[in-house]
Amino acid sequence: MSSNDTMMQYFEWYLPSDSTLWNKLTKDVKHLENIGITHLWLPPAYKGASGKDDVGYGVYDLYDLGEFDQKGSIPTKYGTKEEYVDAIKILKENNIKVLADIVLNHKMGADETEDVLAIQDDASNRNVSLTSAKPIRVWTKYNFPGRGDKYSSFKWNWTHFHGVDWDENTGTAAVYKFYGKHWDEEVDKENGNYDYLMGADIDLNNMDVVRELKAWGKWYLNETGVDGFRLDAVKHIRSDFFPEWLGELREDFGKQLFTVGEYWSSSVDVINNYIEKTEGCMSLFDVPLHYNFYRASISNGEFNMSEIFRGTLVEKNPFKAVTFVDNHDTEPGQALESWIPDWFKPLAYSLILLRKDGFPCIFYGDYYGIPAKNVISKQNILDILLKVRKYFAYGEQYDYFNNRNIIGFTRTGDYEHSNSGLAVVMSNKLGGSIQMNVGKNLANSVFYDCTGNLSETVYVDNDGNGIFYCKDGSVSVWIKQGQRVN
Ligand code: CA
Repeated sequence: MSSNDTMMQYFEWYLPSDSTLWNKLTKDVKHLENIGITHLWLPPAYKGASGKDDVGYGVYDLYDLGEFDQKGSIPTKYGTKEEYVDAIKILKENNIKVLADIVLNHKMGADETEDVLAIQDDASNRNVSLTSAKPIRVWTKYNFPGRGDKYSSFKWNWTHFHGVDWDENTGTAAVYKFYGKHWDEEVDKENGNYDYLMGADIDLNNMDVVRELKAWGKWYLNETGVDGFRLDAVKHIRSDFFPEWLGELREDFGKQLFTVGEYWSSSVDVINNYIEKTEGCMSLFDVPLHYNFYRASISNGEFNMSEIFRGTLVEKNPFKAVTFVDNHDTEPGQALESWIPDWFKPLAYSLILLRKDGFPCIFYGDYYGIPAKNVISKQNILDILLKVRKYFAYGEQYDYFNNRNIIGFTRTGDYEHSNSGLAVVMSNKLGGSIQMNVGKNLANSVFYDCTGNLSETVYVDNDGNGIFYCKDGSVSVWIKQGQRVN
């Protein structure tokens, strides 16, 4: 029997630097399968510049998955290579696909400096140069003394990068472009040209680099057996790179390699344009939907809930949208902080988990909490919504988005999933009700609110109509009485 796909992001920013995540995950696999997780996005698994303290985005050595004594330890923040590979094997044995987090925009924590000529560009408009070429000293030599030539003898130097943000001679932080190089054209237009994000920006016009990164991709798939990718910072990378990189891996391995990219923009036109330019080779996270949730959650009931999907990727291009509520960048204290408060989380998760469109991704920090920021776990409500997704969120969908504050939708169920179908009603202000139709197959039955928010039942009449309720600032999820979700 087929069931809905559900992704989980299995980390948050403030996990302790104790190298235990891979082992914790191994013990968690049965539970994850039970709640309906089909795809797990794991954090960047390679050694970062800050060693065990690195979340993984400050990539030092792509080939060090916790195997070599580099940056102060053998394991990464999450464990050793052996533990990583074991965890992936166990996940796959339990029907959970693994997505590896791929960071190919930049590197950090070089082993040595080099003296180069560079031009300083205006940080807020990188099309404008502030200086002529001047000598600076940069951290761009990567020799990997702890690994040597194992797996690859490629050593990085300044010619493999576009530029950096630090001159060691003068101790100056600025956007430095190496003399004779240019920022790639086909990148995001924020700051004039957003090729440069951080660290040493990888030059993907250098054919030696492209060859090395393709070889690395093949090595990674062979060593780990992952099923696909989450691509970091794609808006800072020329748009024709990933179609080529993914295309070659897909062809060589004969695998689908499901891939979702992080293109951080609240403009649906910008991100959908990227999907078109990259020939649909990847899905993208629905960043505009996250911001709609955020605005709705902090508007004190003033947000028009009937427009919650307006301007989102899941509305415009549902087959390419990975919907999410929050992530490691939007959590409290992080770069893109826009954390959706507790009261709205059940509403937002109902809108990504129970509807037919979009591939939903739930966040570790919501499921397990974020102790470092006193964020409590929402496991109780999420377990209910995940089970409802797994067993009942099937069939046709009817929307009742006719009111500024109270909206609802129904699913009519299908024959493959017995007693499936549901009715959802939510309010961002005062509670209330909507008459909705759940389809003929569910006619003449009694529904109950499986969230436990309301204890009353609802009778569905001969035509499939019922009047479904919710309380103030809350969501109720109605399924057929007798069907259990815990
Ligand atoms: Ca770049």
